[in-house]
Amino acid sequence: MLDKNEFAIASELYSKGFKVAKSDRQEKFKELLEYYNNLTGFGETEPNAIMHHSLEQIGSDCENCGKPYRTPKAKLCASCGNKRIIAE
Ligand SMILES: [Zn+2]
Repeated sequence: MLDKNEFAIASELYSKGFKVAKSDRQEKFKELLEYYNNLTGFGETEPNAIMHHSLEQIGSDCENCGKPYRTPKAKLCASCGNKRIIAE
């Protein structure tokens, strides 16, 4: 999985991919796929899957200290112990 900084880079490569004038998806998003696969060692071929999974894994920041929660479903902040309010 990606951390926040890596995800920011991946997002950039993703939006860059839309501007590449090629019809083949894997060609368009070659930079993103390479970046992700080099980082993770996966052989991901679907750019959307990368963005989707990464967003799910990263989750949100603590309302109290601003540090990211470990997982999207974490009930407690690992840094400050803040109880998380999950709006679902
Ligand atoms: Zn916190």
